[in-house]
This record gives sequence, C-alpha cells and structure tokens, in this order.
Amino acid sequence: MTGHYTRDYWQKALDAATLNGRMFIDGKAADAADGTTFVRIRPMDGKPGATFARGKAVDIDRAVASARAAFQSGVWRHKEPVERKRIMLRWAELMREHREELALLETIDVGKPVMASLNVDVVLAANCIQYYGEMCDKLYDEIAPTGPNDRALVRKVPLGVIGAITPWNYPLIIDSWKLGPALAAGNSVVLKPAEQSSLTAIRIAELAHEAGLPAGVFNVVTGYGEEAGQALAKHMDVDMIAFTGSTEVGKLIMGYAAQTNLKRVALELGGKSPLIVFADADLDAAASAAAWGCFYNSGETCHASTRLVAERSIMDQLIRKIEEVTAREITLAHPFEPSAQIGALIEDAHLEKVLAMIEAGEREGSTRAFGAEKVMTETGGSYMSPGVFVAKSNADSLARQEIFGPVLTAIPFDTEEEALAIANDTSYGLAGAVFTTNMGRAHRVSEAIHAGTVWINTYDISSLATPFGGFKQSGFGRDRSVHAIDKYCDYKTIWQRYA
Ligand code: NAP
Ligand code: MG
Repeated sequence: MTGHYTRDYWQKALDAATLNGRMFIDGKAADAADGTTFVRIRPMDGKPGATFARGKAVDIDRAVASARAAFQSGVWRHKEPVERKRIMLRWAELMREHREELALLETIDVGKPVMASLNVDVVLAANCIQYYGEMCDKLYDEIAPTGPNDRALVRKVPLGVIGAITPWNYPLIIDSWKLGPALAAGNSVVLKPAEQSSLTAIRIAELAHEAGLPAGVFNVVTGYGEEAGQALAKHMDVDMIAFTGSTEVGKLIMGYAAQTNLKRVALELGGKSPLIVFADADLDAAASAAAWGCFYNSGETCHASTRLVAERSIMDQLIRKIEEVTAREITLAHPFEPSAQIGALIEDAHLEKVLAMIEAGEREGSTRAFGAEKVMTETGGSYMSPGVFVAKSNADSLARQEIFGPVLTAIPFDTEEEALAIANDTSYGLAGAVFTTNMGRAHRVSEAIHAGTVWINTYDISSLATPFGGFKQSGFGRDRSVHAIDKYCDYKTIWQRYA
C-alpha cells in the first residue's frame, strides 16, 4: 500500500523542499508591511521549519481592501456560473496533482503522519473544493407567491468579504470547508490560518490562482491570532467571520463582531463527545471505535470521542479491549514512517498543557488505566502515547475539560437514564455515539444525545453530504453539505409591480 513512500523518500523530499511562508494578497506573495517574521518549530523533531510573515492590522487592511475590490468589481461573483465551476474544479485537480507536496507541507507544520496527510487530508480537501465547485451552476433562487400583477424575486446573494480564521488540527480540510462554500456563493475570502499551520493555506491559494481564480478573491494573511486574527475579526469592512477553534476564542470573536460592525459569525468550537456503550453491545466494535475515535490525529480532533460512558458491568473488559486495539493498530511513530498511524502533537507547549491536565486529574482521583505519557523524547519532537483514565464521576476535570490530546476518560453508569444524563452533562454538543444491539434503545438514545452528530454502533463516519457542527458551546452554523452555502449568503427581495 505504501509502495515507494518510505521514510527516506519523505526525508529527501523535505531536504529538497523550499518552504514558502509569505502571505498571499491580491494575487501575489507579500511580506508583512513592517517586514517582521516568525519561525515555526517542527513538531516532528523540534527543528526550525518555515519562516512566516507576521501579518498585522495593516496587512489585514491590505487583504480586505483587495477582497472588497474584487467583490465590487464582480470579477468573480458575476462570472458565468459554469466558468466559476470550471475554475474550482481545476483548482481541486491541481490540489490532487500536488498531493505529495501538500501532504509534506501539512506534516512539516503539524506533525501528523504524512501518509494520513496524503490519503486523508489532501484528498478530502480537494474533494471539498470539487463538491462546492460543482454547485456553482446548480443553485437556484426563488419566486415568492404574489398576486398576478406582482413578481417578487427572492435572491440568495453573497455577503461580500468573508474572514476565515482556522485552527491547526486539520488545516487543509477545515480551510476547504470554509473556502468551498464561501467562494461558490460568490464571496471574497481573507483567510488567517493558525500560526502553527500556514504552509498549505499559502500553497492552495497559489494553486487557486493558477486555476484561474481572479486576484483578490482569496487572500491569506499569516500571523498571530491576537494580531492578524483580531484585526480581521474587528475589521469594519468584513461581512462575516467563519471561525473554527476553541470555545474561548470563539467567544472573543462574537465580542469583536458586537463591538464593531455586527458582522455575522459562524463558530465551530470544541467538544467533549460521549461514546455510550451498553453491556449488550458488540464490545470489539465499541473498543475499536472508542480507540480510533479518540486517538486518531493524536486526539487533536474537535469531535473526538473523549468520554467513554460505559455500563459498569463491562467497563473494565472494554478498557482492556481498547488497550489491545491501541497496541495492535494505532502505531505511534515518526510521521515519515509508513507504519505511523499517529505522529506528534502540535507543539511542546501543547503537550505540556495536556500533561498538566492529566496531573491535575490524577490529583483529583482519576486513575490511569494505561498510557498517556510523554514518549520519543530522544527525537526532539512532541510525542505522547494514547491512554485511558477512569474518572470517579463525570464531575472530574478529565471528564469535563477538552484536553485535545490522546486521552480517553471512562465514566461508569448503571441505567440508560444515567448514561444519558452523563452524556448530556457537558457544556459542549458537537458529537456523540451509542453502542447497543437493542434497536429501540439505539433510537431513543441517539435522539436524546444533544449534539450535532450522533453515531449508532460506529464513530466518525461522515461525508461532504452531511452537515457538521455543534450545539451549545460547540458553536453554531454548519460546515459541509449544501446547507453550508446558506451562511455565506443573504436573502434579498426584489419586488416588481406590473401595469
Ligand atoms: P484557537 O486558539 O481557538 O485558535 C483558532 C484560530 O483563532 C487560530 O487561527 C488562532 O490564531 C486564532 N485566534 C487566536 N486568538 C485570536 C483572537 N484573539 N482573535 C482572532 N483570532 C484568534 O484554537 P487552536 O489552538 O488553533 O485549535 C484547538 C481548538 O480548536 C480546540 O479547542 C478544538 O476543539 C477546536 N477545534 C474545533 C473544530 C470544530 O470543527 N468544531 C475543529 C478544530 C478545532 P493563532 O493560533 O495564530 O494565535
Ligand atoms: Mg493558537
């Protein structure tokens, strides 16, 4: 399966790579106006990676002005829909043609296994751009019911300039979830990727322009959240912020919008998703789903199944099975190793934060079943083994806080009612799952888990055709599916009277 993709192959590709960390504004590469930069340390080995332009408010001003000018001129939104489709499909194709390059860039930045970047992240991102590209010439407006002498058009119009602020865990995928629908709807975009993960954002902007996207329609400003991100979210000429990241920063973004021009806000935030397992479930299937659902991408997944809500009689057995699946299948290794299923965490500071949360949890009385330790320190990278803790109750901090590392917290229950109470006792509502062979219970519990996505007897299966997003403090607004277009549009009524 991995063929010529050996560790040596990727190391040579890395040695030969030139890393471009310049911003992309108005169709061309740009430095910060004040010339400042910052260096990204590679999580795979702790060595310096790319040097990025440190964009600030003045650079955001420049990018927003370019985006606004492109929008006003109609160079994109008034193009023949079939032509916009052609450009987006070409862009998706270019992403596929540059699959190895994009996979390498993603892995240099974030430390995930390069084979996952290659076979999952790049593929899903290209598919997303294609999915929304295909929509360009298939979106219809409405004619409202009126009397015979009137005609009322209900037009769905683009908002204007969209600011996209994205996190580091799935940079290509999440960037595409914003870019696809925002651009298909006819908007211009200014993207501020996370400071840890800007390489692929810059590269796909170049590829978009190579495909024919006009200058100014898609700009990338690299830099820090408190500088470039805040300036974008506070900008008076930005019509909407599409944000994915922490709940804490999501709340700030809403505040910025309220303090400035009441721009719209869509928020995809954190989670603490429950995976409920009843004693009658297929425990092997449940163990596999729990392990992969929590540990994939080293637990740096917003909808990770981080709470195992298990019927008391089978909890210990289930945890042993999770340990077996993890040891057998979820190989932790250097991201260039073809065998690696998980790689490094995003950076040392994050790893230390995860370890501190674990320590606090243990002091409270949560007990370690296995794993969750700092490993591979000799590499200089930020590695941690997957692990499981057993909480005294759902009140323990390990059962409440989003850890964003490979840490699963098990909580026992005795009745269906109790299982649901635990599952819903969280400030989040992004995802959840139920494992049982009782179909009546599967139906009841899946309806009652208060979350944007609930799986039955599986975890983390999805497609572009299904909306993704959260309830409660996991945010609002949906990425993916035809519905994602709605939040980048507004309704406009044009009423005409005859005679
Ligand atoms: P984060 O700290 O919230 O950052 C997200 C983005 O916001 C980054 O681009 C960041 O820039 C920027 N930012 C930070 N402070 C800002 C401010 N004051 N104003 C404007 N922008 C600001 O999250 P993260 O550390 O990148 O990612 C981890 C978190 O994201 C987790 O909590 C996870 O649950 C959540 N997440 C949710 C989803 C979802 O779909 N629901 C997906 C992925 C991740 P800098 O990093 O450059 O400062
Ligand atoms: Mg950050």
